[in-house]
Amino acid sequence: MSRTILVYAERRDGLLRRVAFEALGAARRLAGEGGSVHAVLAGSGGAAEDAAALQARGADVVHIADDPTLQDYAPEAYLAVLRAAMDAVRPDALLLGHTAAGRELAPRVAAAYGAGHIADVTAIEPFEDGGDVGFIRPLYAGKAFERRSFLPGHPWVVTVRPNNLPPAEPQDAGGRSGGSVQALTYAPPQLWTAVRGLLRRAGGQLDLAEADVVVSGGRGVRSAAGFEPLQALAAAFGGAVGASRAACDAGYCDYALQIGQTGKVVTPQLYIACGISGAIQHLAGMSQSRTIVAINKDADAPIFSIADYGIVGDLFEVVPLLTSEVLRTNQ
Ligand code: FAD
Repeated sequence: MSRTILVYAERRDGLLRRVAFEALGAARRLAGEGGSVHAVLAGSGGAAEDAAALQARGADVVHIADDPTLQDYAPEAYLAVLRAAMDAVRPDALLLGHTAAGRELAPRVAAAYGAGHIADVTAIEPFEDGGDVGFIRPLYAGKAFERRSFLPGHPWVVTVRPNNLPPAEPQDAGGRSGGSVQALTYAPPQLWTAVRGLLRRAGGQLDLAEADVVVSGGRGVRSAAGFEPLQALAAAFGGAVGASRAACDAGYCDYALQIGQTGKVVTPQLYIACGISGAIQHLAGMSQSRTIVAINKDADAPIFSIADYGIVGDLFEVVPLLTSEVLRTNQ
C-alpha cells in the first residue's frame, strides 16, 4: 500500500531537530513503495540547507514557509503553516515529533481536519497481510504499552517520541532523484502574543529528551559540587546530565534535570545512574533506556534489578575512572 505522508520538520535555534529525521524515517516506511514523503519547514531564513538535508534523507518534496513572523515559535503561526501544508499536500498522515511544539500542534491539526490522532509513539509495527499499522505507545509511565491503529476513512496525525525510532539515513550523495523544494504560500494569521525575549538558564545543555547518553545523579551525589564529576562524564560522551527528584529537592541541581514520573521521560542509548536507589517513580522516567548502567555503593539497591551493568562502588571513585577511560578511547 502506498501513502502520502507529511512530516513537520521541526527546527530549534535555526537547526533541524534530530526527531525530524526520526519522523522522516518513519514516514518513508509508512509511505511504502510508490508513496511520497513531503516535509514542511517553517522559520525565518536558512531553510535551504535544511531542505537539502531532508531531501538527502528521503523527502520527495520539501515545502518551505519562510517569513519573519516565523522567527519565533508561536502556535497560531505554526498552525497556519501546517494547515497550508495540509491543504497543499492532502496527506494520508502527518508526523510530528512528540516535543513541546509537536504536542501543541498535533491535536489542533487533528481537530481542524477531522483526523485521528495517536500521540507519543515509540515504535511502529508494519501491517501484516493487509492488516492495520500498529502504533505502539507507552502507558502508565512506561509500565504498559498499547498497540493502537487508525480506523479507515480519516487522515492520521501522529507524534513520535524523540530517540525511539531509527532516523532516516542519507540515501546517496545527490539525494533522491525527482525531489523538489517548493515555497509554501502562507498567510500570517493575527497573533495575540509575541515573544519579546528568550531567557536561557545558565549552563544550558543538550535537550535531555534527545541526548544519546544521560548521566544522572541522585541523593548519593551529596551536593551541587558533587555533580561536577557527572558533568565531566556527560561531556566526555557528548551527553546530558539528569537527576533524581531527591537530588533536585536537596538543591543539588535544577528541577529542569529531574527524570521520572513527575519529571522528564528519557530513552537514551545509555543511561548511567549514579547514587540513585531506583525508586519506582524514578524508573518511570528512564526504564526504557537502551542500556542502563548503575553505580551504587549498596549492592542491594533496587536500581540493580533493572540495570544491564551494575557497579557496586563509590561514585566519586568510579565516575572519574569512567571519564578518563571514555576520554582515552575518544582520542
Ligand atoms: P535515595 O533513595 O536516597 O538513594 C540514594 C542512593 O545513593 C542510595 O541507593 C545509596 O546507596 C546511594 N549512594 C549514596 N552515596 C553513594 C556513593 N558515594 N556512591 C554510590 N552510591 C551512593 N523521584 C524521581 O527521581 N523522579 C520523579 O519524577 C519522582 N516523582 C515522584 C512522585 C511522587 C508522587 C512521589 C511520592 C515520589 C516521587 N519521586 C520521584 C521520589 C522517589 O520516590 C524517590 O524518593 C527518589 O527517586 C529517591 O531519589 P534517590 O534515588 O536519588 O535517593
